[in-house]
Amino acid sequence: MELLKERIRRDGKVKGTDVLKVDSFLNHQMDIKLFAEIGREFKRRFADCQINKILTIEASGIGIACITAQYFDCPVIFAKKSQTKNIAGEVYTAKVESFTHGRVYDIIVAKEFLGHGDRVLIIDDFLANGAALMGLSKLVEDAGATLVGAGIVIEKAFQPGGDMIRARGIRLESLARVKSMNEETGVEFVD
Ligand code: 5GP
Repeated sequence: MELLKERIRRDGKVKGTDVLKVDSFLNHQMDIKLFAEIGREFKRRFADCQINKILTIEASGIGIACITAQYFDCPVIFAKKSQTKNIAGEVYTAKVESFTHGRVYDIIVAKEFLGHGDRVLIIDDFLANGAALMGLSKLVEDAGATLVGAGIVIEKAFQPGGDMIRARGIRLESLARVKSMNEETGVEFVD
């Protein structure tokens, strides 16, 4: 998606070798016109997939998922990052290792919101090692729902998540695929 790539080139800030900060338009301040174009593009790529639920993870996936859901005319569920263990039975859970903080946390979705017959599109802002996406896809599987695919805004293609997800047969659509990045020279895309 050329508009997104241009914006990343212009406003993205590379930190070290593997973190891209996009706080001015995606992760802190949010450019809603850009979000609308992102939502429209996800709709184009997943048209005719009969998606009836969008699943994301708090916090930064929520805004993108909500705007995208307007094009699919469906609700959004966001997996919560949970500290408590006394909710077993009513929720689906998975463990996720955080890329940005390095620690492992549980994500949960209430059973009442996901189940057989649901056709789910996962949406998230970044794909790095694939832990968030694997955790979310486990929730879908445990619920007996169908995972139609995953829509990612920025895939860091030099990290292993994308290959791992595709190898599992999950349909993955990334709107910008970063081939390499460097604090001095900036971001280079796959295509
Ligand atoms: P993964 O689970 O694929 O390793 O990492 C995905 C999650 O980590 C995303 O939900 C995102 O919040 C965060 N993340 C991973 N890499 C980056 C990055 O380069 N920049 C930002 N802002 N977030 C990232």
